[in-house]
Amino acid sequence: MSRFWSKTVHQLTPYVPGEQPKLANLVKLNTNENPYGPSPKVLAALKDAVSDDLRLYPDPRAERLKDAIAGLHNVSPTHVFVGNGSDEVLAHVFHGLLKHDKPLLFPDITYSFYPVYAGLYEIDYRAIPLTADFHIRPDDYKVPNGGIIFPNPNAPTGIPLPLASVEDIIAANPDSVVVVDEAYVDFGAESAIPLVAKYPNLLVVHTFSKSRSLAGLRAGFAIGHPDLIEALERIKDSFNSYPLDRFALAGATAAIEDTAYFAQTCAAVIKTRAALVEEMSALGFETLPSAANFIFTRHPQQDAAELAAALRSRSIIVRHFKNARIDQFLRITVGTNAECTLLISALKKILA
Ligand SMILES: *Cc1c(COP(=O)(O)O)cnc(C)c1O
Repeated sequence: MSRFWSKTVHQLTPYVPGEQPKLANLVKLNTNENPYGPSPKVLAALKDAVSDDLRLYPDPRAERLKDAIAGLHNVSPTHVFVGNGSDEVLAHVFHGLLKHDKPLLFPDITYSFYPVYAGLYEIDYRAIPLTADFHIRPDDYKVPNGGIIFPNPNAPTGIPLPLASVEDIIAANPDSVVVVDEAYVDFGAESAIPLVAKYPNLLVVHTFSKSRSLAGLRAGFAIGHPDLIEALERIKDSFNSYPLDRFALAGATAAIEDTAYFAQTCAAVIKTRAALVEEMSALGFETLPSAANFIFTRHPQQDAAELAAALRSRSIIVRHFKNARIDQFLRITVGTNAECTLLISALKKILA
């Protein structure tokens, strides 16, 4: 607290990111990073970007990257916005498209950055409870609102919403922007991007941090009607014209272009997830149906916070949220097969 702080700063409740401990030999399953490194073509593109050209500003329009994203998703580049991580894209979305007179709607259990952005931009919101079995019910989103946002699959539950239900929400709210945050969609859910051509109120947000193994690079994008994209460009160019540096542009473009590596690593994560869910079940854990690169799981006889602490003392880090309704769950990132084997053997010892 300081008398030099603005009123805004006094009122903020910042997001608390999952920790990035500096310990060696850690099994890090707490922030949903990809267990596999980025594509070798990404690493080569980054090495190429180390040059005297770094004296020059990067392309403020990010044309090559937008062309690559547009090509992959069969839209025109005017439908694409890129930012410094999807968190930055989301911040501009809250500021430019979700701040209206009526309240913004999002699920009560969801990505915990949403209420933080609502606070930062002074947006009134209503948290809509998930059903008792943690599903989004589209009918709950057919009430007056100034915008809607939800992840698909949802976080931290991992539960996907079928595309027909996503469309139901979009079609029922033609006067609001509906934002589908598809941070984890590549691990087994259906993308709403094909609906962008049909619905001018739909914006789909993606990140390079999870399925493209580039959390350290900071890149994300949004796809939607050019009117929505223009709002985001106006915010961006009133804030930072160069959110993606030369490395981010080169690396993200190469990541989009290497479709084979992407398909292979996503398939590997999905396969490991299925094995992990089965092994957890054999230990008595109940896991929600996940279409993401993490599982959300509870043990009927074990306290989740104590389990997380016991794992931690064995150098395995998972995420535990103290929020009501989910404080008996652990969110565990799907690691490599070797990491999941270490997790299972540690849990066996803890439960013995
Ligand atoms: C990880 C995550 C993001 C943010 O990703 P960055 O691109 O790394 O900022 C956005 N939304 C959800 C639901 C996430 O889990």
